[in-house]
Parts: sequence; structure tokens; C-alpha cells
Amino acid sequence: MMSKKINSLQIIKSAKRMQSISLLIKKSGRRTIAFVPTMGALHEGHLALIKKAKKVGKIVVVSIFVNPRQFSEKEDLDNYPSSIKDDIKKLRILKIDYLFLPQINEIYNPRFQTKVIVEEFQKHLCGISRKNHFDGVTTIVLKLFNIIMPDVAIFGKKDLQQFIIIKTMVRELNINVKLICHKTIREKDGLAMSSRNNHLNPKEKQIAAGIYKGLKLGKNIFMTSKNITSKKIVKLIHSFYRDLGIKKIEYIEIMNPDDMAYSIIPSRKDFIAVSVKIGGTRLIDNVEF
Ligand code: AMP
Repeated sequence: MMSKKINSLQIIKSAKRMQSISLLIKKSGRRTIAFVPTMGALHEGHLALIKKAKKVGKIVVVSIFVNPRQFSEKEDLDNYPSSIKDDIKKLRILKIDYLFLPQINEIYNPRFQTKVIVEEFQKHLCGISRKNHFDGVTTIVLKLFNIIMPDVAIFGKKDLQQFIIIKTMVRELNINVKLICHKTIREKDGLAMSSRNNHLNPKEKQIAAGIYKGLKLGKNIFMTSKNITSKKIVKLIHSFYRDLGIKKIEYIEIMNPDDMAYSIIPSRKDFIAVSVKIGGTRLIDNVEF
């Protein structure tokens, strides 16, 4: 197994097998494992993370698993885009080593009852409307870490709250993995790439491009005004979105990424995070000041 040509993608469906492959690699003591967890429908954002993994690790493992425990609405889970054949093609082109592609029963037995909860940080932003979402994320990520035993794992800044929560879990549970947060990859018009963009029709996609424009507007106001309050910035972004025709704004918040405290007067360390719904599609994005 260890002598297998590095460039031929191996698709592993069994958790036990994946774990024993990782153990063998680790025992050799020479090859770092870089890991990118995904839910598939791979786009340029995912691929950028995988390219980074190739730079920092000798062995690259990507997982594709649509984790039901991080969806609160069944409909959202059922509609989650899937393109596994295309995904495998993309992974072959990138010449990664392993795709971990488990079936649901490989990950959760019917009596599965363990949860990892990062209590405070999961209460904010997306955690308000998506109950149990982050518990689902932390539980699956820890499980994947235990199966794949990566030295390095790469996540996207697009899901900044997710990254902050995973970083907290890794620190507080002494998990031996280095985390990398990769910048958000965008379409030419600024729209953050997301598997969910597949649900947007052309008109909605055009409106969605305004999400990032609103964030940049907020950042610009912060950079050019003295002592401006978060409330004022949020209000301006809000009306920018309304003018664009975005009717459902779930949140626009300015926060500190270290303690997820809401800022009254923003500082350079803060970020603006937004979640909106366009048509039936929920989209999130953020920028740092
Ligand atoms: P997902 O398949 O949506 O669970 O995403 C898998 C990983 O890709 C997560 O770490 C995401 O933050 C990251 N990701 C998703 N979209 C982007 C993007 N546009 N740019 C960079 N990373 C992304």
C-alpha cells in the first residue's frame, strides 16, 4: 500500500481502512498528511485548498461527505448539490493521493450519540438560525481527524465562524493538527464560490454578486471614517442590500475573531460577516478590516 505510486488516486470508502492507511503513513515517520474536508460539488474554492494541501503535505487526503448532522432542515440536505463523478475527475487532475468517500452508515451507526460542542462560539451568527449546525460540524471534523490523523488540515475563510470554532476545539481538546485558513476564492464579480451557488438562477446570481460589494463598502467606510460605529456601518450595508433587491437579510455583524465579541466601535482586527437569502438559497460571506 505504502509503495503505491503517489499520483494514482485511491478512493477509500471504509473508515477502518482509511485509518490503517494513515497509521502506516504516520509510522513511516517521513510523510506529512495534509487533509481537506469537503461536502463535494467541488469548485475552485475547494481546489485552492487542495492545492495548498499539496504544498504543505507529502500525502494529500480529501474527504467528501455530506454530513446530515450539520443540516437542520431536511429539505436543505436533500437539495445539497452532488457531482461525485466530476469531483473525482477534478481530484485525479490535481493528483492527490486519497479520497475518503464514506457512506453514511460508515460514519454514523444508528445509535450514534456522541457530540462535540464548542459552547459559546456556536451561539452566534449562523448558529442562531442553524440550530445544532456547528455541533454537527465539530463532531464530524473530530471524527475525520481521528480517522485520517492529518498533520495539517486546510479550511476556507469563507466559513470563518466554522474555522474559529474548529480552531477552538483543536486548542481546547489538545488535538495534534496544524490548521490553515485559506483565503476566500471568488468569481470575477466578487461572489464567493460556494456549492450552493449552483441553486442560483442568472438573475439571482447577479444579485448575489452584490453581497461582496456590500462588504467592501462597509470596509471602505471603516477605513475612511474616524470613530464610526459598527451600527452605522451595518445600517449602510443593510440599505445597500435592500436597494439591490436582497429581501432576506439574516445578519450583518461586526465581530472580533478571537473572542467573537460584537464590536461597538470596530477595530482593524474585526471582520464583517453576513448571511442573506436569495430566492431559497442561503449565502454567507465575510471580510476582514
Ligand atoms: P464545504 O464543501 O462547503 O463544506 O467546504 C469545504 C471547505 O472548503 C471548507 O473549509 C470551506 O470553508 C472551504 N470553502 C468553501 N468555499 C470556499 C471558497 N469560495 N474559498 C475558499 N474556501 C472555500
